[in-house]
This record gives sequence, structure tokens and C-alpha cells, in this order.
Amino acid sequence: MSIVRIALDVPLPRLFDYRVADGTAADRGRRAAVPFGSGEKIGLVLGVAAESDQPPEKLKTGSVLRDMPALPDDWIELCEFCARYYQYPLGQVIGFALPPMLRRGKLPRRPKEKPSPAVAPPALPDLLEEQQAAVAAIGAATGFETFLLHGVTGSGKTEVYLRAIDAVLAAGGQALMLVPEIALTPQLEGRVRNRFPGRHIVSAHSGLAEAARARSFLDALEGRADIVLGTRLSVFMPMPRLKLIVVDEEHDPSFKQQDGLRYSARDVAVFRAKQVGVPIVLGSATPSLESFHHGTSGRYRLLPLTRRAVAETLPEVRTVDTRKEKLQDGLSADLIAAIGERLARREQSLVFLNRRGYAPVLACPACGWISHCRRCAANLVVHLADKRLRCHHCGLEAAIPKACPDCGNLDIQPFGRGTQRLEAALQERFPEARVLRIDRDSANSPTKWQALLAAIHAGEADVLVGTQMLAKGHDFPLLTLVGVVGADAALFAADFRAPERLFAQLMQVGGRSGRAELPGEVLIQTEYPDHPLYRALTDHDYAAFAATQLADRESAGFPPFAFQALLRAEAKEMATSLAFLAEAKAEGLALAGPQVSLYDPVPMRLFRLMNLERGQLLVESPHRPALQVFLTSWSERLRALKAPRDLRWHLDVDPLEF
Ligand code: ADP
Ligand code: ZN
Ligand code: ZN
Repeated sequence: MSIVRIALDVPLPRLFDYRVADGTAADRGRRAAVPFGSGEKIGLVLGVAAESDQPPEKLKTGSVLRDMPALPDDWIELCEFCARYYQYPLGQVIGFALPPMLRRGKLPRRPKEKPSPAVAPPALPDLLEEQQAAVAAIGAATGFETFLLHGVTGSGKTEVYLRAIDAVLAAGGQALMLVPEIALTPQLEGRVRNRFPGRHIVSAHSGLAEAARARSFLDALEGRADIVLGTRLSVFMPMPRLKLIVVDEEHDPSFKQQDGLRYSARDVAVFRAKQVGVPIVLGSATPSLESFHHGTSGRYRLLPLTRRAVAETLPEVRTVDTRKEKLQDGLSADLIAAIGERLARREQSLVFLNRRGYAPVLACPACGWISHCRRCAANLVVHLADKRLRCHHCGLEAAIPKACPDCGNLDIQPFGRGTQRLEAALQERFPEARVLRIDRDSANSPTKWQALLAAIHAGEADVLVGTQMLAKGHDFPLLTLVGVVGADAALFAADFRAPERLFAQLMQVGGRSGRAELPGEVLIQTEYPDHPLYRALTDHDYAAFAATQLADRESAGFPPFAFQALLRAEAKEMATSLAFLAEAKAEGLALAGPQVSLYDPVPMRLFRLMNLERGQLLVESPHRPALQVFLTSWSERLRALKAPRDLRWHLDVDPLEF
């Protein structure tokens, strides 16, 4: 009999001791089945102990599962890092990092080995000078180094990743490539598979069937996979021969998980590269200000790609001043004319509006009633396509009422504009045109999304109306015009990251136009044509934008010049949430050194969600280690606080959403 220490997927920051018949030190990293409460749980063995703090008669007996290789130390240490850094119980980090099937103690069946098709590798383009320099720099790294590959869409970043990966595979290593969205993986996967025929490439994202995901994990763990390609969760793929990490679109907010383990896959990837001593390449047309700051201060090595690889010229970006004209259905005369020209030339246009639905709210002009969600502090959005009102936060649905529920007025109206309304307006204005809307409603499954993309590629659409879904990573060879409407609100949003996001989105969506032989044009409708953000866009000057933003952030003491964590609490009543936060603050003040500041508890902007009222408390420090030390002892105190029954709280380290 021996005693093993086991991490279990339960919300307690401790390990559990069990007796097993034949435990050895080699069992570290293996799964074990153990009795817990009235049932059984699968956990991970983290060590074998000579004795336990528990009295021997209290120790229950479990069994070690030895049907797959043990997870290696570096993988366990990665989980330990996340547990420490994100203040999340280690057992739950491990539970999250393991694919669900393995977490339940099962194993996937092995598929029959398919012989990889014998394809001649494709002919490679000659690299441009800057691409060559980037590939050489990455290849020359002898250990951990962070590279920031900064280049506009079409500047050949992916080509650089592929060359760097090629070199790593040739030397017998494994490469990990992270991309922001599941929707993007099929296209990229195709490109990677074409480039490396005969190599074993596995994907990992939450859209995979359970068995497939578990198989990818085992292929990576057992060293069979040469390349792992996936979304944020693939940063937890065990890779014994890992020699290179690539994070594409490193600025993308979807690398940060917004529930449970609130990790940033980009930041964890950088930690992991450091941990195993390998280079990491962060790529973007619009790096996060955090990464760009590191790039210019020398902590990361900046690798610029300043021109497009194929189309010689960048699209011409212009603002259209909408203060001086009466818009027609939200469209300016310039934009309408530009779309008309594209139709005549049989080219595609895209009108970008980052708001889905028909209109953001239904309102009664007589009494002032508006369509509220009864569960959230938000309005119900009008979806005329299926005649419903819908809450975009909690999913609540209702029929569109025929009359005002308060005063009976029959003339209630949708206010504002979403993609459906824009689609209808464009169709009315251009009756001959094939108008196609692309947003989370029209592309609500991978199959529909692929079908829409195929239709665009086949030239079966003339005018596209879409949200940021369309902005990402797709080549539309016939697209020569991008119109941007309704973007101004983000200029003045309360969230200090809103301008950064807007700039990235508009760069990205603008980058969709004119990728092939046809030059592109971007028209931004705005009431603030002289705003520095739009100026930087029309000048294609990310660096100027970043410089002004970073100066603002520095004087305001915002990231990357400070490090933040949020304590959020939710309960049936706001008073309960705020009282808990006030108590938490009092505990915190007793622990905080001079380098850590605690702000006052405040209601969150979306202060009610699904009938829960939410508050938050911001903690800040100019020093990351000081914040870490504080958070560790503070979270221990918080767990010891007697919180009311209906109250839930969590910590969000390096929060992106406020
Ligand atoms: P990004 O990832 O920056 O958007 P890609 O690597 O996808 O850029 O390159 C854009 C297009 O240009 C792709 O079709 C790619 O095959 C092509 N390309 C990249 N580098 C070169 C090059 N040096 N010469 C010719 N074509 C290139
Ligand atoms: Zn009314
Ligand atoms: Zn709601």
C-alpha cells in the first residue's frame, strides 16, 4: 500500500490523499479513480507520499489508471502556474486542461492509421526581404525569445509561420499554433496540411467531437503529432518535443477565457515558451498594446513586415463626414455611389456594422416604453427576420408585440440599426443585387458558415452585410469596397480598451478588400472625421495610433503600465453583492502593501444578468509580483469569509472586460 496525492476537479485549492495498492513515483501524471463523497471521481496523481496528514483510518482507497502515458512534469507545472497566476484551484485547472473524455476516465478508440496521401509539396514563393529576416531571426533563436511579427493582412505573416514551423519539423520538433476562432481553423488547417503533406497535424478546439479531441490530445502527448493547430485551449496540449509556439492574431480578445479559468492563452503561451525554453512568435496587424509596448521597449523582438506580399498597394481608406448630410437608411451618398460602382463592375462590396439584429430596441414614441429584458439590465433586440425580440445577454425571447404593452399605442417602432435592417435597406436600394448577411444569426452553425463563405468565394453575392465575423482571416478576391457604418460609439465607450478594439476591427475588416489584383477602398462613415483613431487608419499608421493610446494609458495608469485584477460578485440583490465586496475590500486593505491599490466596489455596467445583480472591485498595482503576492493571500481570506448563500464571487486576473 502507498499513499498518493491527487488533484481533483473540485473548487477547493488543495490536494487529496488516497491509498493505492501499488503506487510508485512513476505514477505522477497518471489518472486515478477515487471515491469522493458518495461517488467516484477521476483525478490526477501529483505525487506519492510516505505518509499523510490524514489519520490512516480516514484514507480511502483508489486505483491508478495506467492505460495512457503519464502527463509530463512540464505539463503539470504549466497547470500549477495557471493555478497560482489566475488564483484558481489546481484540480480545476487540470480538469479544464484535460479533454472531457479523458477527464471522465475513458480513452478514445484508436482510428485505423490512414496512410497520408503522397502529395508533392507545393512550390514556395521567394520570401520578401523582411519575411526572410523574420524567418532567419526566429530560426536563430537558441532558447526562449518572444518575437512580435507585425504586418498588415496579406503581408505574409502566415508564410513566415509556416517557414519557421518547417525548420522546426525538419529538426524533429513539434510546433504549436494558436488561432483565435474555431471558424478560422478549417481554412488555415487546409493551408497547413497542403504545406506539410505526410506530417501528422492535429487540431484542438471546443467544436471537435469528444473522441476526436481526446485523440488529438493523446497524439500530441505521445509525440505522434507534428503540429497542433487550435484555439485557446490547445495551449494545454502536452507536447514532449515542443520547439516553437505561434500565436496568430495575438491581439484577439477571444484568447482570453471569460468564465471558469479566466486565462489568457496568449500570456500562458508566452509562459510556456519560457518554461520549455523555445521561441514564440506573436503575430498581428494590430498587436495588443501590451505586446507592442514590449516590442518597442525591447522585451519582445519586433519583426516588421511593412508591405503586402501580393497586392502591391494597401486599400485607400477615407472618412465620409456624415455631419453635413442627411443619411438614407444610415447610408451616405458616397457609400451608396461606391457600392453602385462595384455593382456595375461586378465586384463585391462589404458593409460592416458590428451590431446584429434588426434594431437594438423597440420603443413607443407615445409613452416612452422600450423593450427591456426582464432578467438583465439590457434591451431586447428586434429580430425582424424571425419576428422575435431577443436578449443578446441571456437569450430571453419574446414575440414582437403588436401594440405598446404600457399604453396600447399601435405605432411602436424599432429604433437604431442592426445588420438585418441594413440588409433590407440595401436590398431595397439595389433590387438587382444579391445581398448576403453574415452574422451570428445567419451563420449560426459551422455548416452554414462554410456555406456562406463558399457562396462569397464563388461570387454568388454582390453586397455583403456583416459583423466582425466577416473581418477575420478570409480572402475574398472579388471584394474591393468596405463601408464602415455605426462605428463612432466605440470612440467614447467607457471601456478604456474600446478604441484599441475598434482600431483592430477596422484594420482587419479593411484588410479584406483588394487582396488580389483589384485595388481596394475603405469608406468610414463618421461624425468625427478628425479623430486621431480615424486619422491613423487613413494613414495606415498603427504605430501612431499605438503611440497616442500608450501615452494616454501611461498618464491614466492603465495597462500595460499597471496590472489589474477584478473581484466580481453576484447575488439576487445588488446590496448583497456590494456588501460582500466592501467586506472583501476591508480584508484587502489590511493585506495590501503600498504598491497595491483597491478601488471602491461598484455595480458592473451590465449590472443585472439572468436575474443576478453584479458588482465589481478593481485592484491595481504598477508591479505584477506585488499584485500576485497580494492576490494569493487575499483569495485565501476571501474563501474564509462567510458569504451569503446566494452569493458567488470570482477573481479575474488581467481582466479584459469591465
Ligand atoms: P498574412 O498572414 O499576413 O495575412 P499570408 O502569409 O497569408 O499573409 O500571405 C498573403 C498571400 O500572399 C498568401 O496568398 C501567400 O501565399 C502570399 N505570399 C506570402 N508571401 C509571399 C511571397 N514572398 N511571395 C509571393 N506570395 C506570397
Ligand atoms: Zn406606449
Ligand atoms: Zn437578458
